[in-house]
Amino acid sequence: MEAARIALLFGHHVMLAEAAPNLGGMLSHAKRLPKLQAIGDIGIWLESELYRLSADVRLSTYMDVADVIAEAPDVVIVATGSQPTNPRDILQVADPATKVMISPNARVITSFDLFSDRGKDLGRTAMVFDDVGHYEAIGCCEELIGRGLEVTYVTRHLMFAPAIEVTGRAQAALRRLYSAGRFRVVTQAELIAIDDDHSEIRQIFGRHSEAIPAETVVIVAFRQSENELWHALRGRFEQLHLVGDAVSPRDLQPAIREGHLAARAIV
Ligand SMILES: Cc1cc2nc3c(=O)[nH]c(=O)nc-3n(C[C@H](O)[C@H](O)[C@H](O)COP(=O)(O)OP(=O)(O)OC[C@H]3O[C@@H](n4cnc5c(N)ncnc54)[C@H](O)[C@@H]3O)c2cc1C
Repeated sequence: MEAARIALLFGHHVMLAEAAPNLGGMLSHAKRLPKLQAIGDIGIWLESELYRLSADVRLSTYMDVADVIAEAPDVVIVATGSQPTNPRDILQVADPATKVMISPNARVITSFDLFSDRGKDLGRTAMVFDDVGHYEAIGCCEELIGRGLEVTYVTRHLMFAPAIEVTGRAQAALRRLYSAGRFRVVTQAELIAIDDDHSEIRQIFGRHSEAIPAETVVIVAFRQSENELWHALRGRFEQLHLVGDAVSPRDLQPAIREGHLAARAIV
């Protein structure tokens, strides 16, 4: 959306194809997290700017290589984002070579599952395993606490949500979470096994292992870039750009910056 907005401001004709029925991408999911509703505002503003600047926006329009070629554009900016990793295939950053043993009946879900079915019974205990360290795991903890569960946050990191520590949001979240009296943080730990009602974790730098009560396990892992379209288009267009999570799954700021710079680079 930012690439389209800047290209329009520079006077180019812009067609924006979006596979989903609405614009916003991952923002549409992120804004469902508790205390994160306002993150959607940037998407609302970008969308209104695109229509104000007369972009040719095509919703529910999945583009493959042939579709892109058929449009005969001078420039292609690919911003196809990322997809969540299957939580049962988790490769932990702290120990990617070791496969986590997961019971076939264990309830192991992603944040996408958690927020797409808010009425579902998740039991009385939950573990949020955070391999990323950003806001996503905090949102999952808040949701589960809000639904009345006892929640254990487990991470490989040295501390709770290190990626946003400097913003002060992690401290505010901790205050809210602990006030429920049903919340615990375990750091510097890796996952060993997930069973139906508990999970086994182990200290990364020690030998101690521990069983965590968890009828539901939410895995917050790095998403996977969706960049097959860009690979397939390479060599076919002189001006071809890849931006945002499709390069590497990160945050809004790099996605917006890369989209902005790609549009400015149009010659
Ligand atoms: C739970 C959660 C919480 C987050 N919290 C934060 C936060 O607090 N702060 C922050 O900065 N970031 C946060 N993020 C990350 C942020 O949402 C993403 O980094 C950002 O949205 C990436 O933007 P993007 O445009 O690169 O990709 P996306 O937002 O994934 O958009 C890609 C779009 O491309 C479409 N598409 C894919 N393939 C095709 C195709 N072939 N044809 C047409 N359309 C296609 C998709 O439908 C999608 O709409 C969060 C993400 C999640 C999942």
